[in-house]
Amino acid sequence: MNFHILTLFPEMILQGLNTSIIGRAMEKGLISVNAVNIRDYSEDKHKRVDDYPYGGGAGMVIQAEPVYKAYGYLANHIKLSKPEKDQPKKPRVIYVTPQGSIFNQTMAQELSREEDLIFLCGHYEGIDERVLEMVVTDYISIGDYVLTGGELPAMVMIDAISRLIPGVLNNEASSEFESFQDNLLEYPQYTRPENFMGRKVPEVLLSGHHAKIEAWRRQQSILRTFERRPDLLEEANLTEEDREYLTRLIFQKNIDIY
Ligand code: SAM
Repeated sequence: MNFHILTLFPEMILQGLNTSIIGRAMEKGLISVNAVNIRDYSEDKHKRVDDYPYGGGAGMVIQAEPVYKAYGYLANHIKLSKPEKDQPKKPRVIYVTPQGSIFNQTMAQELSREEDLIFLCGHYEGIDERVLEMVVTDYISIGDYVLTGGELPAMVMIDAISRLIPGVLNNEASSEFESFQDNLLEYPQYTRPENFMGRKVPEVLLSGHHAKIEAWRRQQSILRTFERRPDLLEEANLTEEDREYLTRLIFQKNIDIY
């Protein structure tokens, strides 16, 4: 997977992604991160890329031209980097914006199947609408709050997508059973020692009985989701047995979550 980021702060992206699991994935060539500085495409002698908003109001807006030129350079670079015979489809261009659909694990899975992804990071009050209409394919937010720039959201998404790419996590299984699989939160995890300040690891986890451990974990996932994110349960992938357990929970707590 090749990530391309159009940004005013390429060093923030490169420094932010260059460590731990994602850094190692870059070293191994499983992913690549190419940060393009929008400012390099400004025709202004001081390399300015922002101007006042038409109609007045606070703040500055990133101009259309440098973004369009940076995008053009990048699209051409991606095209030229592939052999003539298997030219890929036009890469998706994600504008990270608080006005987009909220990013989630299903979106991360879907995006992890792309070969190239372009992220466009805004700053100040955002980017001139006309260039967004011309180049953007997806509008994605990381949550209902406003940040100063798109670099952190792009990094959040790149991290979530990268760990789904085969080989990025050492233990392939570690991305298999975790929160949001089947729309449930993950069960609680424990490691040594068995007794920490009087708090013991649940007995079943020490039993070595795999079926019982699986059943316990499944129930814990349902319980945790019920307690912390009941909204997820509406779309959860539940078996008949899971539903019976959930009904018992609802009955016990006497709460109607639907
Ligand atoms: N004026 C814009 C609005 O009200 O929608 C907000 C601009 S924000 C200060 C600057 C940039 O940060 C945005 O263009 C976007 O790229 C990024 N950004 C801020 N919050 C974000 C969020 N929750 N998710 C994704 N990107 C965000």
